[in-house]
Amino acid sequence: MLGNNPLFDNANDLVYRPTPKVDIKCPYCGKCYYSEDYSMSTAMYTPTIIKDGKVVSEDGNIHTTQCTCLECGNKFKIVRHRGETKIERGN
Ligand SMILES: [Zn+2]
Repeated sequence: MLGNNPLFDNANDLVYRPTPKVDIKCPYCGKCYYSEDYSMSTAMYTPTIIKDGKVVSEDGNIHTTQCTCLECGNKFKIVRHRGETKIERGN
């Protein structure tokens, strides 16, 4: 009976979803105008755990996106791990 569970309405809901990009700002100039040059992830397998119809497992992998600010040209990284997003300066 998955039809009544909004978690399963869309197969994409089971896929890692990054934090909305609007929250990301360049750590040098504070603007939100950047290119995502490439992304990397650690490759630890995390089993999906369902409890009472809800996904309760966490993705333990670290997702890193290398970015270039299109305002000031500096490089920064978006690092996401267990629901937290950090911005780091540099390559
Ligand atoms: Zn910038």
